[in-house]
Amino acid sequence: MSWRASILTLFPAMFPGPLGTALAGRALEAGIWSLDAVDIRGFATDRHRSVDDTPFGGGAGMVLRADVVSAAIASVADGRPVLVATPRGVPLSQARVRELAAGPGAIVICGRYEGIDQRAIEAAGAEEISIGDYVLSGGELAAMVMLDAIVRLLPGTMGCADSADEESFSAGLLEYPHYTRPAEWQGRAVPPVLLSGDHAAIAAWRRGQAEDITKTRRPDLWAAHIATSVGAVVRPRPAP
Ligand code: SAH
Repeated sequence: MSWRASILTLFPAMFPGPLGTALAGRALEAGIWSLDAVDIRGFATDRHRSVDDTPFGGGAGMVLRADVVSAAIASVADGRPVLVATPRGVPLSQARVRELAAGPGAIVICGRYEGIDQRAIEAAGAEEISIGDYVLSGGELAAMVMLDAIVRLLPGTMGCADSADEESFSAGLLEYPHYTRPAEWQGRAVPPVLLSGDHAAIAAWRRGQAEDITKTRRPDLWAAHIATSVGAVVRPRPAP
């Protein structure tokens, strides 16, 4: 059975958008996953088809109504995890992406304006997820980011299954740098070890690069990595 995404949005025409091309698009065509974009406005009940209202307590902007969003969720709810895109959410991680890819699919709610009435989120037992510490104008791009990350892990989507095991975050480290032909370009040579054919030396070099890059760029990831992987930090140093 294919992995099933339902997106609740005020702008269903934005989908599949970029998810309809390249790797995700081919997987969509192949039936590895499916996507339905549900128009939240279709669940408005008044004659103006309004979906939002002013916030209780005052303040700028508008809030998506609980009754309307809740009816939209109910129209697709079937036990799949319900995710809400919000900058206030738990940051999306590769670990959560992997779990979601292993499940039956997801329902993703895209906010607009100031966001969604909290009661609709609570009533659905929805998980609030952020894609980073910045504010977008709507949840649609965030939903696409989540789906892109998930879909590439679905069996049959990526050509080479190994790619997912070695890449950034898989072992709690950022990935080592890549090189391809030509071996020398504009006076810059590829690190010689990569041309040595010595697989153990190459693996050790890549590991060292991954550790150094993680240490300098992401001290938070590095701290978590050494806390969880006992022994992994001790890498043999060349004899003096
Ligand atoms: N008033 C909100 C921001 C609303 S932005 C706040 O200050 O937290 C409008 C919508 O864009 C949100 O409801 C959410 O669905 C989406 N959005 C914006 N930034 C996001 C992010 N970093 N991650 C996920 N969704 C985001």
